[in-house]
Amino acid sequence: MNDRELLRLADQCVKCGLCLPHCPTFRLYQHEADSPRGRIALVQGLAGGQLSDNARLDAHLAGCLECRACEVACPSLVQFATLMDAARAARVARLPAPQRWWRRLRLDALSATWLLPLLAWAALAYRRLGLAAIAPRAGLLRWPQLRVLHGLALRLHRPQPPAARERRAATDGGDAAQPVVLFRGCVARVLEPAVMQAAVVVFRRLKVPLAVPDGQVCCGAMHRHNGFPAAADALLAQNRAVLGDARVVGGASACVAELRGTVDAVELCRAVLDSPWPAGLVPGRLTGVVAVHEPCSHRNQLRDTAAVYALLHRIPGLEVVALPGNDSCCGAAGTYLLDQPETAAALAAHKVAALRRLSPRWLATTNTGCAAHLASAAEAAGLDLDVVHPVVLLARALGQGGEGRGAV
Ligand code: SF4
Ligand code: SF4
Repeated sequence: MNDRELLRLADQCVKCGLCLPHCPTFRLYQHEADSPRGRIALVQGLAGGQLSDNARLDAHLAGCLECRACEVACPSLVQFATLMDAARAARVARLPAPQRWWRRLRLDALSATWLLPLLAWAALAYRRLGLAAIAPRAGLLRWPQLRVLHGLALRLHRPQPPAARERRAATDGGDAAQPVVLFRGCVARVLEPAVMQAAVVVFRRLKVPLAVPDGQVCCGAMHRHNGFPAAADALLAQNRAVLGDARVVGGASACVAELRGTVDAVELCRAVLDSPWPAGLVPGRLTGVVAVHEPCSHRNQLRDTAAVYALLHRIPGLEVVALPGNDSCCGAAGTYLLDQPETAAALAAHKVAALRRLSPRWLATTNTGCAAHLASAAEAAGLDLDVVHPVVLLARALGQGGEGRGAV
């Protein structure tokens, strides 16, 4: 997108300010430049040549979570996320080559499916060698970035290859239901492998034929929101070639939102809810309160968090409640928690305060980054809480249900 197109998009904003109270960073900092309207004005200044790029301007633009709460609230239907993605891409394109190269390398590394197992091994070594216990005592977690890495290292698992078990599931299914293809994502493979295992268990019990094709790569969202749209498009094209025209089911709402324009992608809770349930398939009882966290990608992009509540309500014994403050981002926001750890922590602290008041047994969320970020924050605050994907809870309940076996 060139500067003229960028200005055309930005000019749709009439500066009414109705989005301001919905913006998490404006609520936090009460600064116009950290609001949607302020950021649009900065983009206009940059694209129009009235402003020059500098560190302060960068901080205000980089501080945007791309949560889209402003987009949902805007009566003029300003496409804020498209505008912000384009503005970031234009700024990245103007960077000196070494800086641009470094940023790209970092994103490639974070999303490289071949590298993630190595990160998982490093995290395992960090835990097994006792470094995870030493780091807090040595005061290393004073630094916000180290705190985030420590939290992630506690949660990285070795990825489970979609081998025998998942492939068997493909043949176990009946042919009454529409077949699905599971999308494994990238970091989700090491941060939340239980979600794909639960999806396999649940679809098998629903007699839905499924497949997990090899060759899947990152959905591209990280690249798109960090100024590399061509790389994001290339990843999408690679996934398109592998996934084909099948109905693709993803366990992370942000990935589903990114894939949606390219393949027929459905969020996992919705896919399970809409599948025909065999007569007599009754989940077992799970007793306790489950708080539902609504990731911005699910709430503001897919706009279908109702599926999560409806699915959890099928589990007898669960008391399902919305986590207060669901209209505000938790601060994970893709790579945001690594790049802006202080703001990410401040936003997570609001969630932790709500969880402390509610004291649920589980926190259910449909996005991998949110799950890791909230689990770290809750643990650091001393909360006894199990952060899970709703379908993991369903798989556990099915494992205790009338037809027995298959728990995750
Ligand atoms: S983005 Fe929309 S709601 Fe916000 S100031 Fe502009 S027109 Fe108003
Ligand atoms: S996308 Fe979210 S953080 Fe960014 S300006 Fe809009 S409401 Fe604020």
